[in-house]
Amino acid sequence: MGDTIFGKIVRREIPAEIVYENDDVMAFNDLNPQAPVHVLFVPKRALATLNEATPADAELLGKLMLAAAEYAKAQGFGKDGYRVVVNCNEHGGQTVFHLHLHLLAGRRMHWPPG
Ligand code: 5GP
Repeated sequence: MGDTIFGKIVRREIPAEIVYENDDVMAFNDLNPQAPVHVLFVPKRALATLNEATPADAELLGKLMLAAAEYAKAQGFGKDGYRVVVNCNEHGGQTVFHLHLHLLAGRRMHWPPG
């Protein structure tokens, strides 16, 4: 597991508002939300960025996506819709190098993103 702030949250060494968890994935509220709902889904087994993913990680990546969709539907914003984002490296705007998926909901999203 990578030694990032998200690794510390997964290991419960620092606090976070955890909203979802299963064997492979943990989700918690973003500290600096960009929408009424802004939840970060992280694999417990860390990959630094999407670039590090290999075919061996396909199941884990699928579980991450499915966890976000499951959470969105359970929270009742599946029908109105939501956005899922993965930032990769500098131009993607990645700041924490433990792969994570942003789930944004509760307002209409804009396109193209900035
Ligand atoms: P990135 O820019 O890497 O795609 O996203 C990192 C996200 O993590 C940002 O939206 C930022 O607000 C959030 N974040 C950074 N540090 C913490 C933290 O300590 N706790 C939580 N809950 N979110 C954090």
